[in-house]
Amino acid sequence: MRVINFNAGPAGLPQPALERAREELLDFQGTGMSIMEHSHRGKEYEAVHNEAISLLTELLGIPSTHQVLFLQGGASQQFAQVPMNFLTPETSADYLMTGVWSEKARDEAKYYGQSRIAATTINADKRYTRVPKQEEMQLDPAAAYVHMTSNNTIYGTQWHTFPEVGSVPLIADMSSDLLWKPIDVSKFAMIYAGAQKNVGPSGIVLVIIDKGFMAKGSTNIPKIFRYSTYAENNSLYNTPPTFSIYLCRNVLAWIKSVGGLPQLERWNREKGELLYGMIDRHADFFRAPVEKGSRSYMNGVFRLPTEALDETFVAEAKKAGMVGLKGYRSVGGIRVSMYNAVTVDNVKTLVAFMEQFVKKHG
Ligand code: PMP
Repeated sequence: MRVINFNAGPAGLPQPALERAREELLDFQGTGMSIMEHSHRGKEYEAVHNEAISLLTELLGIPSTHQVLFLQGGASQQFAQVPMNFLTPETSADYLMTGVWSEKARDEAKYYGQSRIAATTINADKRYTRVPKQEEMQLDPAAAYVHMTSNNTIYGTQWHTFPEVGSVPLIADMSSDLLWKPIDVSKFAMIYAGAQKNVGPSGIVLVIIDKGFMAKGSTNIPKIFRYSTYAENNSLYNTPPTFSIYLCRNVLAWIKSVGGLPQLERWNREKGELLYGMIDRHADFFRAPVEKGSRSYMNGVFRLPTEALDETFVAEAKKAGMVGLKGYRSVGGIRVSMYNAVTVDNVKTLVAFMEQFVKKHG
């Protein structure tokens, strides 16, 4: 029996992607071994690797100016690798601060060059309840790049209009919302995302990078940290996490089979409207801190009137077959992560549970 999984990441995976893995686990396409046991240089693995790249390219409409790379080290390694490649002691980068992950990204920049806070929405409680407006950003036209976090997994905020940054390269950490809907990739010099929320299992980071921007990367760093090394070797410079990439392939193939990103966007919007509709109908009970225009369709956060009720909510939901609802450790409350693998029916079940919970405890 599978539970309804609202984990923030690693998160639930679409069942058809897991079933396909189960079917192919012991004997991948008649080869007498699993894909994990194949050489990363063999034609069987290479076909999976290239299919994952081509599916991602097709689903997102990635233009030929950009290249897909597979890296390791998690999104956190990208916090360091971005400035390592694109920042020097003589240059400065702009950071748009919208939460814990933006802070961690900026912290790594100081080892390589200057960084500026071009906007921050941190409030008096040291929390973030919205993303900045365009007029609040003080962008440096000479910046090496602008870094942003498109969806703030912990605070439950999301950018619904990407910032206008002129000719400065825009880099986005999309770890918790890549593939939630179609986007215009050409606006970004680079996108990166740890796969373990919306795309697949942990162990793999997807990078989509503008080739001209990548060419400007530092060559004064070890090869293994240069994006160009991965690009020149089709992300097969060394052994990649083959099983993670295989599972991403299964998820991407599933996304295509259900109608691609337009269909995922319809489902994700429906899920968000169901959850926030319930929150707004009982706003005194389900206390949502995030400003409406910045609400995330991926992570919905709220608090109940007392911490004891938060705990009761999590415990009763678990009894009803729903897990992963406890808020982030530093924030508390409830967090409902509704990535692509969470179905509209799953959210309907949660919302019905919330209705009962208000009746019982409200
Ligand atoms: N960025 C965002 C937006 C995240 O939500 C997370 C983690 N959950 C990270 C970065 C860090 O990812 P990782 O654990 O893969 O380093």
